[in-house]
Amino acid sequence: NKFQELGLNELLLKAIQDLGFENPSEVQEKAIPLLLQQDTDIVALAQTGTGKTAAFGFPLIQKIDPENRSTQALILSPTRELCLQITNEIKQYSKYVKGLHTVAVYGGASITEQAKEVKRGAQIIVATPGRMQDMINRNYVNIKNIQICILDEADEMLNMGFYEDITSILSDTPEEKNTWLFSATMPQEVARIAKEFMKRPQEITV
Ligand code: AMP
Repeated sequence: NKFQELGLNELLLKAIQDLGFENPSEVQEKAIPLLLQQDTDIVALAQTGTGKTAAFGFPLIQKIDPENRSTQALILSPTRELCLQITNEIKQYSKYVKGLHTVAVYGGASITEQAKEVKRGAQIIVATPGRMQDMINRNYVNIKNIQICILDEADEMLNMGFYEDITSILSDTPEEKNTWLFSATMPQEVARIAKEFMKRPQEITV
């Protein structure tokens, strides 16, 4: 099994087997070994349908400490549908990791309910930028222990007008975190975020 050679642990390999994934996709093969290393920032050009959620999801799950209940990772994504889809995938991938909790945070639903879920202990938050900013403003979420920020479909988020929210959220998270950016295209605004908020990102294209 080629997933084994990428450095993934037994808990992930077991979940991957349950899902019936036989071989890593191209973006997974390129991204997973890089993201499992210490202190990597990455800019990945990858379309939907390439397996990019697992490409960041597997290494993310492996890097989270499930015994620490604080929020350690934030995934920003453009829409409620995508948030729910990513959350669902992360939950499947992490099904053998005891104590790991992933919560979706998005607009158009009760913010106090979402705050309650986060408060119970969510190591991974998958959020739309506007609602995440709102949660931060209201002190419903503690972001001081965030070690990994993932920007998924960065071009779409910027098209939708989330530049201010994204940059504000990134500025509020710890300086020493790592940022993993995924985008189908690389318009100037995406390049600008990479330049201003990332540390010598490795680039991959599929
Ligand atoms: P994504 O590009 O992340 O939206 O993934 C597209 C679909 O491919 C999802 O339904 C995944 O469950 C599936 N998928 C991801 N990686 C693999 C893989 N290595 N083998 C088979 N299916 C996969």
